[in-house]
Amino acid sequence: MPKKWFICPDGEHIEIEACLQKCRMGSRCATRPYLRMAGEERPYSGHASVTMLERCTRMVWLSNRHDYAVDPDDSAFRILGIRVHEKLDDLANEKEESETFLDIDGIRGVTDLVEEDNGEYVLTDTKVVGSFAVAKMLGISKIATKPIYTEAGEPVMYVRGPKKGAQKTLDVYGPDPARADVSDYIRQPNLYRLQWNATHAPKKIDRLQIQAIVRDGGTITAKGRGVTRNKYIIPIPIMDEDELREWAVKERGRIEDFLSNDIIPPVGTDKETWNGRFCQGYCPVREICRNVGDNPWLKGGGEDDA
Ligand code: SF4
Ligand code: SF4
Repeated sequence: MPKKWFICPDGEHIEIEACLQKCRMGSRCATRPYLRMAGEERPYSGHASVTMLERCTRMVWLSNRHDYAVDPDDSAFRILGIRVHEKLDDLANEKEESETFLDIDGIRGVTDLVEEDNGEYVLTDTKVVGSFAVAKMLGISKIATKPIYTEAGEPVMYVRGPKKGAQKTLDVYGPDPARADVSDYIRQPNLYRLQWNATHAPKKIDRLQIQAIVRDGGTITAKGRGVTRNKYIIPIPIMDEDELREWAVKERGRIEDFLSNDIIPPVGTDKETWNGRFCQGYCPVREICRNVGDNPWLKGGGEDDA
């Protein structure tokens, strides 16, 4: 079953084809090419993909079995990410192998980029992600405070309140390797490495990294989290291959079993649903999931329980 309707800004639904023919409102909420991209979907091919291994299986199952509606607004960052990948792919040269299709143990994936750099093969996964995720990956935290001075070099003091007479200070943020947590992003590049190494000998991958483009880079929110740049290269540790493969094959079996039968999969795990935030704000089939009635993050009908 496909994505069938768009949700207009006034909350009404319209069939995607009808929207592309003629907007039912005074003016379009987006251009037709944007809407075509927002209306695109990749139906389940019968094989689990690398990205599917870490997604909520119920979401894949529901979106393949039910017609559903999407708000074109919700596709903005996905479309941005697709365009970023397309452009980076266009600019890769013959020494840089981009968008390579891989398959291992029936699990399919596409690496963003493998390049030879200083005698090493480096695999890069580019992500357009929010500053919260970037701060977590880098372990950015408050590492110091520094006193504030005026342009003339005079200390800036508190003139009232409990700190009256004390010099004002500014929190300084920086990456703390001990706090860096890449657990949400470690498996995918490692699986690509496994797939690549199995099919591209002798070009074995030496290093893995995420190229993170900060979706909200430059905003007060991002800077407040200590994320002051708009893109980061983040090293990803290499995982034990046997353990990873065992996990991937087990997950593939579980997903393919669910998707080939009529029993609805359980609510996604806390990790898959971002402790419910994905269910409440981002999942395209959340209204159908809500009607199943067992999702603790989606109680009742109507508005989300944010
Ligand atoms: S362009 Fe936007 S507002 Fe117009 S019909 Fe389509 S979804 Fe609705
Ligand atoms: S609402 Fe949550 S549990 Fe339900 S399908 Fe979507 S992600 Fe999975």
